Amino acid sequence: MGVLHFSPHPREQGLRIGGINRIYAGLGPAFPPLSSETFDSVTCDQLNNHSQTSPMPRTRSQTEFARAQKSIPGGVNSPARAFGGVGGHPSLIDRGDGQYLYDIDGNRLIDYIGSWGPHILGHRHPAVIAAIESALQKGTSFGAPTVLESELAELVVAAVPSIEKVRMVNSGTEATMSAIRLARGFTGRNVIIKFAGCYHGHVDSLLVAAGSAALTLGTPNSPGVTPGCVADTLVLHYNDVPALEQAFLQRGPEIAAIILEPVVGNMGVVLPEPGFLEVVRDLCTKHGAVFIMDEVMTGFRLAYGGAQERFKITPDLTTLGKIIGGGLPVGAYGGRADIMDRISPVGPVYQAGTLSGNPLAMASGIATLKTLRDTNPYPALEVKSRTLTAGLRRVATAAGIPHTVAECGSMFTLFFSPTPVRDYPTAATSDTKRFAAYFHGMLERGVYLPCSQFEANFVSTCHTEADIAATIQAAEQVLAGLA
Ligand code: PLP
Repeated sequence: MGVLHFSPHPREQGLRIGGINRIYAGLGPAFPPLSSETFDSVTCDQLNNHSQTSPMPRTRSQTEFARAQKSIPGGVNSPARAFGGVGGHPSLIDRGDGQYLYDIDGNRLIDYIGSWGPHILGHRHPAVIAAIESALQKGTSFGAPTVLESELAELVVAAVPSIEKVRMVNSGTEATMSAIRLARGFTGRNVIIKFAGCYHGHVDSLLVAAGSAALTLGTPNSPGVTPGCVADTLVLHYNDVPALEQAFLQRGPEIAAIILEPVVGNMGVVLPEPGFLEVVRDLCTKHGAVFIMDEVMTGFRLAYGGAQERFKITPDLTTLGKIIGGGLPVGAYGGRADIMDRISPVGPVYQAGTLSGNPLAMASGIATLKTLRDTNPYPALEVKSRTLTAGLRRVATAAGIPHTVAECGSMFTLFFSPTPVRDYPTAATSDTKRFAAYFHGMLERGVYLPCSQFEANFVSTCHTEADIAATIQAAEQVLAGLA
């Protein structure tokens, strides 16, 4: 069994970005965060000065970010936006259109973040905008059931193989938090297993990285999360089948659920090795634990039916978010009807929400899912992504930069490490300083990448061959200067 040991590292708190950094914020030298190269004030100043002398004006963003920092902690409403892993200041966005973002300095950026996943159809897709506008004419929230909620639920049930019933919430975090409560309520057990490097939102019981020994009590890694909150969370390494088998051998009757990302996006893209998801499925079935597949990122992204359709694995519960809201705040959890019927008001497990099933969000989700269902963009998206990743591999190799590209469908990560990434420790081998330089070089050339080595890039239906070619060309120039 892998022994995961973590201890505090103040510089990391709130600075790091990406799921891995969100999870490991506050960890320390015993098991350093993935962004082990920190960007102290000197480095940040250098990067800021560098961007000032770049051809792309960013002065308004700089001024507005300074303004934001006075009234908003860190100037952002989610740490992933703060450039903590790369230094410098973020661009403030004025508007999005298709595959492009336009910042407040008037720069056009080719967007590979897509609002961290939702915009598989690009920004302002006409069908989505029309649906939101039409719903808006009728009101913004009623606190009573609407037909739109049934319509989106039916689309989800029809699309996702394992989902028989689904409950709408407002974010991915709410979805995973509720699914864990439900799994515990359903099984009458307490222990959950998560994997290092998987991010499931800022749920207290999931903000844990480790125990000092396998299967011992978890240690919280955010101030404010009590030891009690994470005492029943076991952390294992992704793709580590022997550790998983050992966990069930030792504590099988206590384990309520396993939660995982079927393809990890939150330590950069990491694929499940052949057989890993199957073992998770088998162990859960054998021991009566609930298999929660967190498809907040992969749902409607890797296939219309998500990773579970792609890998042909049937979880008991699935969490969704991002794409099902089409850019508005929606999360959902669903699965076996016998489990879902344990939720209130049918069953005793409580879960509620003032704005859950919000009509604007439902309309946006319905339009997005219908468009995906009717146009089946997945094969074309994959071809486009492969063209891009092949180009990145080619120019990185030509520049002599050690690298690995991990990809699945329209998600990919260029790791600055020659080591194939299969889990947290291998992700940690990446050269984050080189990534930061690459990131800023790309931004100066109008390519907007996730601002952390440990995030997924997303390709949308709007990206054109010309965008892909321009991105590869920019990478060629940047990487040539980084060898
Ligand atoms: N689960 C996964 C796999 C995610 O990637 C995220 C967010 O990135 C979440 C859960 C949390 O979703 P949200 O940010 O909507 O709360």
